[in-house]
Amino acid sequence: MRNTQSTRLLFELSQPGRRAALLPPLDEQITAAAEPLPETQAADGPPPLPELAEGDVIRHFTNLSTLNMSVDTHFYPLGSCTMKYNPKRNERLAALPGLADVHPLQDDDSVQGLLRLLYELQQMLAEISGLPAVSLQPAAGAHGELTALMVAHAYYAQRGEDRRVVLTADSAHGTNPASAAMAGFETRAVKSSPEGLIDVEDLRSKLDDQVAVFMLTNPNTLGLFDHQICEITQAVHDAGALVYLDGANMNAIMGLSRPGDFGADMMHYNPHKTFSGPHGGGGPGAGPICVRDFLEPFLPAPTIARDADQDHYRLEYDRPESIGRVRTFFGNTGVLLRAYFYIRSYGGDGLRQVSEDAVLGANYLLSKVKHILDVPHGDRCMHEFVASASKLKKEQGISAMDLAKRILDYGFHAPTVYFPLVVDEAVMIEPTETESKETLDAFAEALFRVTGESGDLVHEAPHSTPISRPNDVAAARKPIMKWTPKDS
Ligand SMILES: *Cc1c(COP(=O)(O)O)cnc(C)c1O
Repeated sequence: MRNTQSTRLLFELSQPGRRAALLPPLDEQITAAAEPLPETQAADGPPPLPELAEGDVIRHFTNLSTLNMSVDTHFYPLGSCTMKYNPKRNERLAALPGLADVHPLQDDDSVQGLLRLLYELQQMLAEISGLPAVSLQPAAGAHGELTALMVAHAYYAQRGEDRRVVLTADSAHGTNPASAAMAGFETRAVKSSPEGLIDVEDLRSKLDDQVAVFMLTNPNTLGLFDHQICEITQAVHDAGALVYLDGANMNAIMGLSRPGDFGADMMHYNPHKTFSGPHGGGGPGAGPICVRDFLEPFLPAPTIARDADQDHYRLEYDRPESIGRVRTFFGNTGVLLRAYFYIRSYGGDGLRQVSEDAVLGANYLLSKVKHILDVPHGDRCMHEFVASASKLKKEQGISAMDLAKRILDYGFHAPTVYFPLVVDEAVMIEPTETESKETLDAFAEALFRVTGESGDLVHEAPHSTPISRPNDVAAARKPIMKWTPKDS
């Protein structure tokens, strides 16, 4: 049942004269606050704030906090996004006063502890990727892509090579071609093979002395590890180009396979996907990049350096070949610290177990879902897989969108739909490694039930949420962010 009461605004619930308990007046005047504002600065009267009983305010906000789905309240099988469980201890540690209350303009000497953690994070990211040089500055995965492409641009400029093309896979996330275009490159798409891997012949036919970088995701967006990866990276290097690894799917291969070992020259991490950072919502993010040693001089400044003899950490600004800054100060440390704590609390063997469990969970779910929906690209996957609602749509009129919307009524967040573009009516499912068998079973059961439904039940779903089917294009492009009272 749709609950509209709980979504009414405090302004709409307001009743003149209602208020919370008031504390008695202070015995002594607080002198600093007693200085009156100059006449010209003072408002005409009190602001028109809503007036409510204290309990109603608390209920309002508590109810609001439960209207959305989240990893803390619901299973969230959002393919490609890796909705990890965010351990609460990470929040507590990142909020320690010695970390949260420092200012980025403080002297290096007064923030040695923080710099040490960031330095060690650089080392751990280098170890996990097999790529030795790290920048913590980029603010998201997409920003890491852009930064690395700017690094590649600087590298070719220094060599006097004028390479203008970036190749991307046709199964790539939209950020790949977008980052390449923003960095000033021309983009060309490389086809996928019928198995959903890179079509190596198509790649070879597009490699020439104009190609600067080939960007690929491995495991790819279909949840498949491209076993041709060494042949691919060799072909790119033979053409004098660089390999960029989109690291969004690192959750599947930590401690099992390293991009640097299979031929990548540059990559980004998405700490919110791989290392339990909170996801977006417009807040601060991070997208650290790792590169090979010969690209290190071009990384953004500052990096975090250590003077071993004095056991002293510092921000290294003296980087004459650097592309410069891509972000203020040294990155979004709050997010980076959560990654640090996540990695340290698991340790190397633990991270490997995380990836093995992610792959196991996804394969278990795949083995159930393939009896409900077509899964065009194989019987085995890494940490995610892509089903297709194409047949369901033709035979029963239930599209991937209907399925995604209706599953909300069963108490599950929707999977990713209509991505990657290479699968018709794509339903991209990723259970993170911390999900129990019972949760995976319940999700498969709900999917099965939806495929047996029909009519308005599916076409007008969801029925249990405060808002059902907004116009998604208008909601993204023309969001109404401000409430205006009816009588104004
Ligand atoms: C999420 C994702 C990105 C973009 O990363 P952001 O951190 O969201 O900017 C790029 N590629 C793939 C495959 C992704 O899943």
